[in-house]
Amino acid sequence: MNELSWVSELKGVGEKTEKIFAKLGIHTVGDLIRYYPRTYDVYESPVPVAEAEEGKIVTVTGSIFGNIQLTGTRNMQITTLTLKDITGNLKVIWFRMPFLKNMLRGGGIITLRGKVSNRRGLLTMEQPEIFYPSAKYEEKLDTLQPVYTLTAGITNTAIIKAVKQAVEYLDLKQEFLPSSLRLKYHLSEYNYAIRGIHFPEDKEQYYYARERLVFEEFLVFILSLRQIKGTDERNRNQFGFPKQAETEAFIKKLPYELTKAQRKVWEEIKSDMTGEYVMSRLVQGDVGSGKTVIALLGLILAGMNGYQGAMMAPTEVLAKQHYESITEMLEDYKIPLKTEILTGSMTAKEKRLAYEKIESGEADIIIGTHALIQDKAKYKNLALVVTDEQHRFGVKQREELAEKGNMPHILVMSATPIPRTLAIILYGDLDISVIDELPANRLPIKNCVVDTGYRQTAYEFIRKQTIQGRQCYVICPMVEESETLEAENVTDYAKMLKEELGESITVEYLHGKMKQVQKDEIMERFSRNEIQVLVSTTVIEVGINVPNATVMMVENAERFGLSQLHQLRGRVGRGKHQSYCIFMSGSKTKETKQRLEILNKSNDGFFIASEDLKLRGPGDLFGIRQSGILDFKLGDVFQDAKLLQSASEAADELLAADPDLKFPEHKNLKEHLQSYIKSGMLQTTL
Ligand code: ADP
Ligand code: MG
Repeated sequence: MNELSWVSELKGVGEKTEKIFAKLGIHTVGDLIRYYPRTYDVYESPVPVAEAEEGKIVTVTGSIFGNIQLTGTRNMQITTLTLKDITGNLKVIWFRMPFLKNMLRGGGIITLRGKVSNRRGLLTMEQPEIFYPSAKYEEKLDTLQPVYTLTAGITNTAIIKAVKQAVEYLDLKQEFLPSSLRLKYHLSEYNYAIRGIHFPEDKEQYYYARERLVFEEFLVFILSLRQIKGTDERNRNQFGFPKQAETEAFIKKLPYELTKAQRKVWEEIKSDMTGEYVMSRLVQGDVGSGKTVIALLGLILAGMNGYQGAMMAPTEVLAKQHYESITEMLEDYKIPLKTEILTGSMTAKEKRLAYEKIESGEADIIIGTHALIQDKAKYKNLALVVTDEQHRFGVKQREELAEKGNMPHILVMSATPIPRTLAIILYGDLDISVIDELPANRLPIKNCVVDTGYRQTAYEFIRKQTIQGRQCYVICPMVEESETLEAENVTDYAKMLKEELGESITVEYLHGKMKQVQKDEIMERFSRNEIQVLVSTTVIEVGINVPNATVMMVENAERFGLSQLHQLRGRVGRGKHQSYCIFMSGSKTKETKQRLEILNKSNDGFFIASEDLKLRGPGDLFGIRQSGILDFKLGDVFQDAKLLQSASEAADELLAADPDLKFPEHKNLKEHLQSYIKSGMLQTTL
């Protein structure tokens, strides 16, 4: 048995479990050992009773004070006791465990580990794990128990059992990192790391295991990226843009003044487009900073000089939105350019008509989704390619669109604050412009961080806003364990909210398990104000512009990375109405409060991301993922920026010495890369 064996060869994995594993993407033993824990349960030292805090999982040691009581009904028997130490008393309850009454003795010393909650004003530990006698806890002290992402039909214990066999009794794959590289970057050995990530003996082992695996993940990613990317020699600019007056006239006609930052970036783009070499530029600008109009200026410059320009958006809704607003602006400002849309959901006939206009050059500005890069789309003379919200596209797709023309200029727009190190790795061939200023006429969004006791008031507020004609987003609590649960959760929440808000308000929902057409339909109805309240998971995060939406309410805000919350907040405050953000926090701890308060203090996505990281510190290893930019299994581009940097250096060194990885000591690495690229992991990550 080895990494390529089927999981069904493991003891205890029958046909049923095999199917469930398949749902989690686990087919082979190799998949299983790469199914890293989502987090860990850490068995910390006991704390004094007086320090047990609501909402936290703690361990306490004390004596059983007074009697052990058994109450409740036959179906729901409740065992209660009071635990006492020199600092205070704590109430403890268990459900459906009546046998405890005979097992535990008043006066005995016991250690309990569980979540502390507030029951009718009394701090209470519910259903704790029992260590009796107390000394039993010592075996567990400081250990980390893996917690895996589950799906219906499988328990954490079952996964642990399977992984244990896989890592303990099998010959794992051979190390594939060259030993010189491991020495230089102080990386632990592969088999040690795999064992350490699942079953660390202590935090130190976890730390070394994780470091190695994150480094490896980054390195393999970067090396594969280089392989598919090929050369990055600069190409000569073959387009001339003598007619420039129209863009200036267009800027004058805008109902607003461009911000200084927008002007600066536009100048950079113009000088690229008229320069000696082909433009490759990334424009980073926070949500609402006005990137679209800058891209449009580029498209107009191309169009007025007799070329075509294309703009690719990651979703149909976004493409339609861009198409409609751009078409309208061109008409209003009497710019004689023809727009065309091309998306996957168009009928065959509609598509054919669009292809014709694109090929004949009748269409000057073409806006669409991935459909823009399909073979059937042939351009007459494409001079500029814009991709919006770049992080949703792979490098490959960007290149494919570029290949459509005769080396057109490339403009990439992103609202995600990508760390500079990463931008260079990913877009090493791109110049970077930053729009670091929001339009001045914006009413600042009013934020509040509240606890769940405020929920009714929030609903009331939402009702009032919709009565005034506004629209609202509600982001549901996340269910990390599984996507199916998450979908159910969103549906239930929407149903509840419908009842709460009454018939006259249309409430709909969105979640990741819905089909793309369904999602698009809901988003379109929302943008036409046929839906007033949209309950959703974070799928609405990207680029949507509904200026009439004024409320963003986020449940369980404490579970999100601040960057993500900031992106969500960017969905409101886009129009002339005052907008509001309600961050509902399920946790009352000081740290949570402090974190969420950062959002109050700043509107700068870059600042927010770095503050969050600072506050949590590098020690917060099981913390919330910050970015969601790139889907690494373990690595986080913010948190692990240093490792990313070293992995990138290591990749440079490797390729400089051995460009095709032909040296014998690179044989294993090369094989690993090939199977990585074949598996499609690179695409998923991007
Ligand atoms: P993003 O950078 O998030 O893509 P958009 O381009 O969608 O932002 O712009 C958001 C809104 O701001 C749009 O309604 C746009 O018309 C408006 N806008 C853009 N630039 C300015 C400006 N300089 N002053 C006022 N409003 C602006
Ligand atoms: Mg945008």
